[in-house]
Amino acid sequence: MASDAIGSTPVGTTVDDNLIYKPRYIDIGINLADPIFRGVYHGKERHPDDLRAVVARAQEVGCQKLIVTGSDFTSSRHALDIAKEYPGIVYTTAGIHPCSSAIFSTSHVHHDAQEYTMPSDPDPEQPVSEDHDPDPEKTKEIISELRALIESARSTHPGALVAFGEFGLDYDRLHYCSRKVQLHSFAAQLDLVLSLTPQPPLFLHSRAAHRDFVGLLKAKFGDRLERLERGGVVHSFTGTAAEMRELADLGLHIGTNGCSFKTEENCAVVKEIPLDRLMLETDGPWCEIRPTHAGWRHLLEAKAKAEGIYAALNGNSNDSTLATSESTPASSVVPTPSITRTATPNPQQDASAPTQPKPAKPPKKPKKKEPEVPERWRTVKKREMG
Ligand SMILES: [Zn+2]
Repeated sequence: MASDAIGSTPVGTTVDDNLIYKPRYIDIGINLADPIFRGVYHGKERHPDDLRAVVARAQEVGCQKLIVTGSDFTSSRHALDIAKEYPGIVYTTAGIHPCSSAIFSTSHVHHDAQEYTMPSDPDPEQPVSEDHDPDPEKTKEIISELRALIESARSTHPGALVAFGEFGLDYDRLHYCSRKVQLHSFAAQLDLVLSLTPQPPLFLHSRAAHRDFVGLLKAKFGDRLERLERGGVVHSFTGTAAEMRELADLGLHIGTNGCSFKTEENCAVVKEIPLDRLMLETDGPWCEIRPTHAGWRHLLEAKAKAEGIYAALNGNSNDSTLATSESTPASSVVPTPSITRTATPNPQQDASAPTQPKPAKPPKKPKKKEPEVPERWRTVKKREMG
């Protein structure tokens, strides 16, 4: 991507454009198909549809592309619709999340895979019984539907579908789907990937299931994943440093979001991720770095640093064009707060928010103390998709 893709330096400026840091990000995992981005929270309309404003704010801070996660048939189709609305900005994935994989089971009552979405709020203390086997007929139907979805996306909107997934294993949430059926779902989808030409990159989910996860990948793609043609990312990583290194050594990328910054141990693992293996995601609207997370302080430090740099630039420069340059929005000086802002829906923001990047303004004096807990967490029931 060209370095001048964001804004432009005003005529007559004396600022060397090459010295101004302009972040260019791709949010590799954001759930823009979630109704929250349309103002609907748990079935109730709380504010006008502000998806356009959310995408505009992302671009404003340097997040040039967003990859919307498809985690079941419904969200994969919605994600593709959004990609059609924002060509060149929004891209998508398609797949069946482990928590949505009960559709592969003999116990599942829905027969129309297209209509299936993730069950809502099952009791975490009640894991799904391991007695039910995967259903071969349903599997055939689901895989053929998924293949049709992918082939149709590839032919009608070439380039929009950039990865297969999300899919994988989640043993922390066996109350959505049993281990046996998750393993079956993962294997069946990996077989589908192997049969696709060209083979898509993978958007993978692994939670508390590292051994089985790596074992199944190796069984399908070879011990060095040599049959995996276009790589993959293990998103929302929360594993150990040893697990991270094993995945990175296999050539996989590691996706980090707020879940990767919950504890000091999590933060230490992130620090060790080789830069050429690191990918950033918000997993918005669910997995931002929260005030209770160990990583929260890094956001505060980065914000203070950004404000300090900006104040210094303003205070020390006689060139007034620097302060008004469209190419340097204040929030883009350091990367972390920018990417975090990308998917933060603001119930107070309405759909009339500007769609063009705003010129940077000098930092204002803080008006009031920021709430410890962002406003939306008070009204929205917490859910962590990961
Ligand atoms: Zn996930």
